[in-house]
Order: sequence, then C-alpha cells, then structure tokens
Amino acid sequence: MKAIVKARPEPGGLELWDVPVPKPGPDEVLIKMKRLAICGTDHHIYKWDAWSQSRVQVPRIIGHEFAGVVVEVGSHVKHVKVGDYVSGEGHITCGFCRNCRTGKAHVCENFVGIGYDVDGAFAEYMTLPESNVVINDPDLDPDLAALQDPLGNAVHTVFAADCVANSVAVFGAGPVGLLIIAVLKHIGASHIIVVEWDNEYRLDLARKLGATHTIKAAEEDAVSRILDITGGRGVEVSLEAAGAVKSINDAMKATAPGGNVVLLGIPNGEVPLDITGDIVFKGLTLHGITGRRMFDTWYRMQGLFRSGLDIRPVITHKFKFEDYEKGFEAMASGKCGKVILTLDE
Ligand SMILES: [Zn+2]
Ligand SMILES: [Zn+2]
Repeated sequence: MKAIVKARPEPGGLELWDVPVPKPGPDEVLIKMKRLAICGTDHHIYKWDAWSQSRVQVPRIIGHEFAGVVVEVGSHVKHVKVGDYVSGEGHITCGFCRNCRTGKAHVCENFVGIGYDVDGAFAEYMTLPESNVVINDPDLDPDLAALQDPLGNAVHTVFAADCVANSVAVFGAGPVGLLIIAVLKHIGASHIIVVEWDNEYRLDLARKLGATHTIKAAEEDAVSRILDITGGRGVEVSLEAAGAVKSINDAMKATAPGGNVVLLGIPNGEVPLDITGDIVFKGLTLHGITGRRMFDTWYRMQGLFRSGLDIRPVITHKFKFEDYEKGFEAMASGKCGKVILTLDE
C-alpha cells in the first residue's frame, strides 16, 4: 500500500512509500481510508520542530485524522464489523491507569499517539484497536467525518464552560479556532468575538462561520474592544486557541469577574501572568484542555452533526492523497482552514 512517511529527520522529509498492508492484531480492526485531514501536529512533524525531534522516530507513517471503512477484524473484536463506516480516537490509552479507570482517559498516563508514537492514518490502510473505533452515521459526509479529531478538541473546549446564551471571546482563528466558532454559533452563544493577530484570510472565515465581531489584534487593542462590546464588563467565557503570550494574557483581562477561561493553545515556553490582578481577585476559573473526552466528546459531536452543525466552510482545500505536498504548502501559507486528502475520488 502507499503511505506518507516521515522518512528523513529534517524539515520536509516526507516521502510516498510502498509498504506492506498491516495485519490487525486480535483486538484490532483494519480500516481502508477514504478521507484524511492534515492536523497542526502533522505540520509540526513536517517542519521538524523541537517537539517532533524529541518525540518522533523515523521512518513513521504520520496522520491521525481520518474516515474510512473496516475491511478486516481481529479474532477478539466483538462490536465492529467489516463494512462499518468509521473514524476513531487517535489517542490509544492504557485502560488501566488511575485516570483511565476514573473517566479521565484523555489524560491517560501512558497514552500512545497514532501518527507520531506509532504508525498513523496517512496510508491506504491502518490498524486501530476496536476500543478506539467510532462508527459514523451513514449519511455523514466523509470530509466532515475526517475532521472529528480537531472538531473534538473544539467541542471539548466549548463544553468546558457554559457558553450557551453567554458572551464568548475566541482567541486564535486557526483551524481549531474556526471549528470552535462554528460550534458556538450552533449552540447559541450571544456574542462570538474573534481575536486574530493579523490573518485576514482567517478573519474572513471567522465571519463566515458566525463571528459577531472580529478583532485584528496587530492593529487594535483586543481587550478594550471586548470591554466596549460587552458594556465594560468583559465576556463570560474566553476560549484561547492561539497559544501566544499576549493572547493568553488578553484572554484573562477580557473575561468578566467570575468568568471562565479555557486554554487549548500551546505556548512554546513559560507565560508570565498577572495572577493577582487577572485571576485571583477576579475569581476566574481556568480549564486546560487536551484531546477529547473519551468518549463523551465523540457522542456530543454526533449529536451536533445530527442537529445540523455546519463546519463545511472550515474546509478550504482538498487534494488527492498523492498530492500531499500541496496540502502541507497550504498549511505553511496560513491561508487555509482544514486541508483534506482524498483516497476515493
Ligand atoms: Zn489532529
Ligand atoms: Zn491510562
């Protein structure tokens, strides 16, 4: 089968290889891929940043955002059948640590990530433990089904605080920020104020997805604009998906006393904060978000799709699997939402 492999430990370094189709173990299924989506994580591996260098051994098949069809099941597989249309959770958890056994598998102490710790989804076939498989509704467009990993990050972030009919600020309009906006619009946030440094392309997408106000932080002070919009009070909830020092601080300052700040963006190093003025005396609640809740987030996504959530505008590029380099170029340009790779069209 063909697979997109991080073949060389250097920037770029991706090659299309011919490799054997993997054999599912007793508890695994074999999935034939239809659609894939490029994640920020794949882009980090492509750029070969410090995290990738410390975590990824080459050669490695990358990718973890997918939709496909089950073509073979292992001897112990009980619930998933050949022919099922599936996506799946990309964190393989141990099932035995304290977190896994107390409903917090998204912070499993021993998790393994597909597409960086083990071979991933950017191939014609991939094996996956049955327990990671999620069966999609038959009428769910595979383009959308392939986005459930990042959409799950967005849903986990939005549902960490009470955003319904409340004013919400979203910091960062990258792919996950855009998905957050779509979810907020769908569930009925009263204000969706989107702050982006200077990327016009993404601010346009943000408006298309339902932002009620957009702020270009390179040109205007985001905190004073948000205070203006909210009558001086600040938003009830800030969702931070940029991971920049300024934007994390602005999220604290733009949130009303007693409000919630949900942090999903990943800063590169330590972030200085005015803990006394911006957090303690304001009585803020902070939430750190990683991965998707297993599997509450996945069921919520099904519910959002069934009730008409529209994330289609987030998909800005579609390429054939073999043309993956074009996809990574689009990612590098910043002029993109989500990039899909197709194997069946
Ligand atoms: Zn992802
Ligand atoms: Zn665990």
